[in-house]
Amino acid sequence: GKRRFLGGIAGITKEDGGEFNAEDFDILSTFAGQVSIAIENAMFYEELDAAKQNAESFRQKLQCTNNKLIRTNQELQHLAVHDSLTSLPNRTLISDRLQQNVLGARRNREPLALIMIDLDHFKEVNDTLGHAMGDRLLVGVGSRFQAVLREVDTLGRLGGDEFAAVIPQADHNAAAIVAGKLQAALETPVEVDGNHFSIAASMGVAIYPEHGSTPSALLKSADIAMYVSKREYNGFSFYDPSNDTSNADRLELLHDLRIAIREDKLEVAFQPKLDLGQGRIIGAEALARWNHPVRGAVPPDEFIPMMEQTGLIRTFTLQILRKAIDHCRIYHQKGYELDIAVNLSMHSLRDTELPERIAEILGESHFNEQHLILEITESAIMQDPENSLLIVTRLSDMGIRLSVDDFGTGYSSLSYLKRLPVQQLKIDRSFVSDMEKDNDDATIVRSTIDLAHNLGLQTVAEGVENSATLDSLLEMNCDQAQGYLISRPLPPEDFHNFLRSSQWDIKHNQTTGGCALTDAYEETAKRRVSMRSR
Ligand code: C2E
Ligand code: CA
Ligand code: CA
Repeated sequence: GKRRFLGGIAGITKEDGGEFNAEDFDILSTFAGQVSIAIENAMFYEELDAAKQNAESFRQKLQCTNNKLIRTNQELQHLAVHDSLTSLPNRTLISDRLQQNVLGARRNREPLALIMIDLDHFKEVNDTLGHAMGDRLLVGVGSRFQAVLREVDTLGRLGGDEFAAVIPQADHNAAAIVAGKLQAALETPVEVDGNHFSIAASMGVAIYPEHGSTPSALLKSADIAMYVSKREYNGFSFYDPSNDTSNADRLELLHDLRIAIREDKLEVAFQPKLDLGQGRIIGAEALARWNHPVRGAVPPDEFIPMMEQTGLIRTFTLQILRKAIDHCRIYHQKGYELDIAVNLSMHSLRDTELPERIAEILGESHFNEQHLILEITESAIMQDPENSLLIVTRLSDMGIRLSVDDFGTGYSSLSYLKRLPVQQLKIDRSFVSDMEKDNDDATIVRSTIDLAHNLGLQTVAEGVENSATLDSLLEMNCDQAQGYLISRPLPPEDFHNFLRSSQWDIKHNQTTGGCALTDAYEETAKRRVSMRSR
């Protein structure tokens, strides 16, 4: 049955000289058969051996690849859960460790401490020394902390200048000792590149199960305690639920605000600005909106001051600027030539890096700076006139227009205002909304408009709530109006609809027949023209 040729047996002459007969052939072919089986076996063994060696090298290669994969995977895992700067566990890993430790503590009925650490005045250090130095200082601080902790404790960096430590089996006393050690760790200045930096930290301590029975409750309590300690400059504080409730409530709101900013959850609303000369919408003010998951809408007058007090405003200002610009670009694309106004806070006027950051955002989004207006309240400017002049001048040199917000409430001197490179005054809504009833207010508004025009500044009246006020403003030659009469601040989508159907577009109204408000507007405009010609 073999079909392959393996070899042959050749016989030439028999020993006895006779012919090969059938019997000889039988013997020979039996012999050939046996030889071929032997040869085939040998060949098979060889193949088997080769295959075995092959399989072995294959297995080794596989193992090698596998090892590499495992290493890469480990590296990736490490990267995913470690902070790239300090190599300490990051927020994700800290949360995970906290989770595991809480489970362990629950099982063994043991306490556990979570310490939240925030460096004091790190921002200033960072601003004066630059980010590279600031980064190295953070690394130094991290290793100082690490050195006073035990193997079982987990130290991590949550981001920025925030660290956290999970201390298993620690009760009040033990936690206080650890917090004291962490403080002491910074007592000698930290060295970076031959320079020595004195830096202190504020810490908040939460104990399981007293201050929270879940990781998120503990994180929140420690965060709140950290704020108390920051405010009182006392090094560290334990979470104290008996803090008067309004205070605790505020701290809780602050905690939520921080998370909302970190997750970029705050939104922007747009309120249109009506140009009284052209009778059309020429811009909008971007206003911050925070929809709290439990409390609902929190008013900006509540959360903006919180941001200012805690320095969160810095990140936030850039967030809302970016959002405002992104939406404004969409409106431009739809054919609406709008200017966008963004509010700066008192803090912004001390932030020497702000102009650069703004330039970056403008560059990244290819947004023409001529469409941007920055509003700064009069009182913010007057808090620190020298620095304000510096920052405002830099912004103005970048081609950005500036507007003095809430004008009339901040006691600015005229001579100072003249030195400021601003283009606009926004008359505070407290004067505008009462000017129909209050003669003094009407006088203030009128003289502010005149004064502004004399200084070569535009005027915007805010808080215009009825058409009588609008009429007076037209008569007073005010340049722009903003207020509920024209529209309340609207979410970006609604603002787009507003632009589409706006009754304030005179051209639009000529074709559709107009409405009472526009008629009133045209009436007054005519009156103004006749007054001017008088
Ligand atoms: P603001 O800059 O003076 O903004 C105008 C405020 O007046 C807005 O209140 C707006 O909703 C309200 N308003 C507009 N028209 C009328 C009206 O006809 N009548 C009345 N009674 N009010 C009117 P909002 O949005 O509650 O903001 C309050 C303040 O919060 C703002 O005052 C501003 O100082 C601050 N703010 C809001 N968003 C931001 C922001 O993104 N950054 C900073 N730094 N501050 C902001
Ligand atoms: Ca404003
Ligand atoms: Ca204002």
